Amino acid sequence: MTTYITPQDELHVEYQGIALTCPHCQTLTHLTAVGVPRFEELRRRKPKHVGIVFRCDACGEPVFLKFLAKSYTPTRVELSSNYTEIEHARETFPLTYLPEEAEDLFKEALNCYTAGCFNAFGAMCRRTAQSLFRELGERGKLELFDSLQEIRTLAELDDDTFAALRAVLFGSDSDPWPHQPDLNSERAGILLEVMRDLLYQTFVRKARLLQAMTFRRYVAPQTETGSA
Ligand SMILES: [Zn+2]
Repeated sequence: MTTYITPQDELHVEYQGIALTCPHCQTLTHLTAVGVPRFEELRRRKPKHVGIVFRCDACGEPVFLKFLAKSYTPTRVELSSNYTEIEHARETFPLTYLPEEAEDLFKEALNCYTAGCFNAFGAMCRRTAQSLFRELGERGKLELFDSLQEIRTLAELDDDTFAALRAVLFGSDSDPWPHQPDLNSERAGILLEVMRDLLYQTFVRKARLLQAMTFRRYVAPQTETGSA
């Protein structure tokens, strides 16, 4: 894919254009360039990176992307097809269902993920898990491990990925160095979905079921015994 800026200060993007999850409206959407740096200015200064302001086609809010400048020629400023998102879409979870300490820790974990700090995200997931083990006791810990095994089967995780997830969540800080595996964006993405599923199963599902049952009991028509 060739991405470049023309001498007329227009951004040229081949194929489908640029699509991503908007950090404002969380929609997977196309972007329209609204602020492209001037060609002459770029040619003169030759910066290593070029920043472009786009408009989200769904909500109209601005999205800023940074591109690596590949080459400067008299007819085009060629940009790398990869870009850096300056603002990421926020990752969310119904945090209020979690125990208080785990809620704070996992909230920070989500912020790390949103910021693209994947090892920090892993470290905060481990702290969240440790807090839950303390909260739920040894039996709770075993149940969480069973849930992780179940996710492994359902999501068809390969052995390496599963081993990494297990080491992050169930490893001990006294394990030999490095006691936590490094996480790249792909592993972190999988860990995020696993955490969501684990926490959902353990806390959210139960709480919502109980709420729904209470509601049903409350709205159920009162029938007197013996009457039809
Ligand atoms: Zn948007």
